[in-house]
Amino acid sequence: MSTDSSPLPKRLDVVIIGAGFAGMYALHRLRELKLTMQVFEAGEGVGGTWYWNRYPGARCDVESLEYSYSFSDELQQEWEWPERFAAQADILRYANHVADRFDLRRDIRFKTRVKSAVYDPASCHWRITTDRGDLVDARFCVMASGNLSLPRVPDFKGLEAFKGKWYHTGQWPHEPVDFTGQRVGVIGTGSSGIQLIPVVAQQASHLHVFQRTANFSVPAVNRPLTKQQEEAYKREYRLHREEALRTPFGIGGHPPPQKYAHEDTEEARSESFEKKWHTGGNISFLYAYKDLLTNQQANETACAFVRDKIRQTVKNPEVAQWLMPDDHPIGTKRLCLDTGYYETFNRDNVTLVNIRKDPISEMTATGIRTARNTYELDAVIFATGYDAMTGAMLDIDIRIAGGESLQDKWAAGPRTYLGLVTAGFPNLLIITGPGSPSVKANMIAAIEQHVDWIRDLMAYVQAGGYQQVDADTEAEEKWVAHVNQVADSTLYPLANSWYLGANIPGKPRVFMPYVAGLDKYRAICDDVAANAYRGLTLAKSAS
Ligand code: NAP
Repeated sequence: MSTDSSPLPKRLDVVIIGAGFAGMYALHRLRELKLTMQVFEAGEGVGGTWYWNRYPGARCDVESLEYSYSFSDELQQEWEWPERFAAQADILRYANHVADRFDLRRDIRFKTRVKSAVYDPASCHWRITTDRGDLVDARFCVMASGNLSLPRVPDFKGLEAFKGKWYHTGQWPHEPVDFTGQRVGVIGTGSSGIQLIPVVAQQASHLHVFQRTANFSVPAVNRPLTKQQEEAYKREYRLHREEALRTPFGIGGHPPPQKYAHEDTEEARSESFEKKWHTGGNISFLYAYKDLLTNQQANETACAFVRDKIRQTVKNPEVAQWLMPDDHPIGTKRLCLDTGYYETFNRDNVTLVNIRKDPISEMTATGIRTARNTYELDAVIFATGYDAMTGAMLDIDIRIAGGESLQDKWAAGPRTYLGLVTAGFPNLLIITGPGSPSVKANMIAAIEQHVDWIRDLMAYVQAGGYQQVDADTEAEEKWVAHVNQVADSTLYPLANSWYLGANIPGKPRVFMPYVAGLDKYRAICDDVAANAYRGLTLAKSAS
């Protein structure tokens, strides 16, 4: 057992970076192969994104009974989810339960951030260093560092001069933050901002919401799960999981749509959207018609429906207008789920500041100055997102000894084979990497699929006595082209989203997730494995 201070073995089979849901399952599953392993985790506990995102209102947008591990029937039967959409605290409690139940902590070193991973082609090992001075060699390095784990605070002029407190949703303090009686500013209206704003509005003396781009949001219709609902679901858990495997998002319970939007009259469409609106959830809404994410006219019918809802809900017509998204098709950015978001703008203590019209020019000691106004604030919350999908990986100095770095290789955008491996970086395995469905599917289902595939690959490597696994450059090129081609057949590239890296100034504009669906992706990965890992180069000795 490795404690936080005990010395680590110098040479291991596997190092796993990150103890979120991906790292935890990788550790559990790879133990079957009797490998020596060490997980490094920057946080003080397990849970990854759910460890860091403790902001008020944080909640998953996939239903609890689906957003949970499926690998152990005992686990899924015994765990009780209190609500339809789990709150952050419940998901973190679940992650801790899993860590204890499967005795994971003994192989995890917490409060330890990996600084570099350098591959030595002569020994076919990665040399990993951490900010705690650890230095270990491992045959495989498994990246479980997450897709949304490098928070981004915009570099506003004067941030250091601000005398109040400021927070980022993705680095929230562990102790509760009470905004009672405070003048609070929130910058950002993505999923995080939209969840947080209604909750903070109930505490703050005044809340200013600084919105640059309006986002689409649909009601979560969250509610407590009754015992009967839970038991009925659990009786059929296996069937629900099997159904989920056959869907593009890895989520069961919502039959994929059969109709195109134009097949319904305007009235019937309106009824269909209305039903979805009251059912709650983003999958349900986007499943109204089968062409909502591929046909702009079809998509516009859904956009118009949501804009009408905003118009009907928000009393001030100018504020309502500002809240209506008009620069991207619905669903091409993550469709937000809310509880009372639009209603919040009817409160007397909430002001929407349109920073598209009146941009933020700087932060001052006492608040935020825009081109035309000054806002006095006690606290500022940045709900400004992440350097997504590649940020956490590129934050680590990953390179080949005496050769290329991953930063160099991905300078024009990430390139992978299946999102799992990247050519020229042998024995580096990526969980939910760019080029895989990851964020465009139920993350836990995507993680389980990746880890199971990696486990089988490692078993194959062990049995065959291989030392080195790499992607074939040609196979990688074909995969990258395929990922782009699939994205281009949808409306996704029309939005300036983090899927494209568009939220980070200077980041290459490349569509990163694979959007053909987790079901299709799984079939491709299975086929690759069944064909002696087609597209991978396996070697028995150093090259
Ligand atoms: P996000 O979707 O990237 O939204 C960031 C927001 O900050 C946007 O409104 C953006 O405006 C604004 N912003 C960024 N830089 C700014 C600047 N310099 N000045 C003014 N505004 C600025 O980030 P997020 O809300 O944290 O969500 C990220 C992802 O995490 C989600 O898409 C989702 O996948 C996941 N998430 C999920 C849940 C859930 O399960 N319910 C909850 C939270 C997050 P622009 O659009 O103009 O750039």
